[in-house]
Amino acid sequence: MSVRLSKNLEHLRPSETVSINMETQRRRAAGEDVIDLSAGEPDFETPRAIAEAGIRAIQQGKTKYPATPGILDLRAAAARHLSLLSGGRPVNADHIVVSTGAKQSLFNACMTLFGPGDRVLIPSPAWVSYPQIVHLARAEPVLVPGELEWSLKVDVRALEKHRDTRTAGLILCSPVNPTGAVYTRAELKAIVDWARQHELWLISDEIYRRIHYGSGPAPSVLDLPDDQLGKTVLIYGASKAYAMTGWRIGLALAPGPVAKAMSALQTHVTSGANHPAQWAAVTAFGDERLEADVAHMVEAFRNRRDLVVQHFRRHLPGVEFIEPLGAFYFFFRVDSYFSPGGITTAAQFCERLMADEGVAVVPGDAFGDPRWVRLSYAASERDLNGALERLTRFVRVLEGAPAPA
Ligand code: PMP
Ligand code: GLU
Repeated sequence: MSVRLSKNLEHLRPSETVSINMETQRRRAAGEDVIDLSAGEPDFETPRAIAEAGIRAIQQGKTKYPATPGILDLRAAAARHLSLLSGGRPVNADHIVVSTGAKQSLFNACMTLFGPGDRVLIPSPAWVSYPQIVHLARAEPVLVPGELEWSLKVDVRALEKHRDTRTAGLILCSPVNPTGAVYTRAELKAIVDWARQHELWLISDEIYRRIHYGSGPAPSVLDLPDDQLGKTVLIYGASKAYAMTGWRIGLALAPGPVAKAMSALQTHVTSGANHPAQWAAVTAFGDERLEADVAHMVEAFRNRRDLVVQHFRRHLPGVEFIEPLGAFYFFFRVDSYFSPGGITTAAQFCERLMADEGVAVVPGDAFGDPRWVRLSYAASERDLNGALERLTRFVRVLEGAPAPA
């Protein structure tokens, strides 16, 4: 049957990260020997104290509709938590809206702030869902390529080159998915100042803020004084640092009227995030004992990052990569293996890698640059070692050289 779908979906493409992940799981369930380095998802269990808080909430009957912007306890715990991460600066709990994952927080923010005729700048390579969410708001995404010399980050000059009278805002991600690069405080400040000067909305996606290999959490727009943040929306959540992807709890911190509008939008969409999961997140953000769990997971990610970097330096010295300083992604360049009649895009590189060696990674095509590949090291050391060995063998074959013994 041919169905004419709404114009709302005219640009819609399913999320490549989600599709590749689902396809990998399907292959594994069918008994195929596949190592999955595609998923942007911690391989750890949700810490016990958090899981128990969720179970307790169900047992205590916290199973009715929640307050739409989020239960008070969670908004208060999140405000305190964000404040503590940024040296005790004030954070207003009334300006927080809790949603079904940071993905919905981003969707709420874009639907609330952007619409037909608006352009939204997105530093590229960029997480797959940003351009799609902007399209769903009927605005136009404009990708701003990052500088290779600068870990594929953008600076104000690059942003300014893409700004015009229709530009309504930008979506910045740090630590960056898919590169693992991290914007310094000074870089963030320059971008915040530029956005303020041109009265643009800045959506700052800091979902990976705690997964940072420098000291403390990664720099945040919240490290800047309030008077510089007039038109800023911060996106944060429990999914990554607390290994809570399936609980679906994210949040946005926005100026009062924007928070109110996002909550009104949510009254018609979900009525609020899963109620027991919100109680679990109260423990994640509010119980200091969880800091040890976060530190333990970040340490494990750091060790795995070191393992991947060392492997590339030792065994694949010709392969360019972005120095990963946060999140759990490693972004490496494969266009030197392209050839006429052979592999010509990262998508083909990844397909062949899957077919020949059973390793799942995500092509840079999904993030706006078909010369690169994203590997997620949120996987066990055993899987990582196995996948790196297979990848190296695959690359040796492409190079036409014998694999090392
Ligand atoms: N932002 C980025 C950069 C992400 O990688 C993800 C991961 N899906 C999200 C937002 C959404 O997070 P959540 O799982 O909480 O919806
Ligand atoms: N954010 C993760 C990723 O980039 C999870 C999948 C998704 O939601 O895109 O792989």
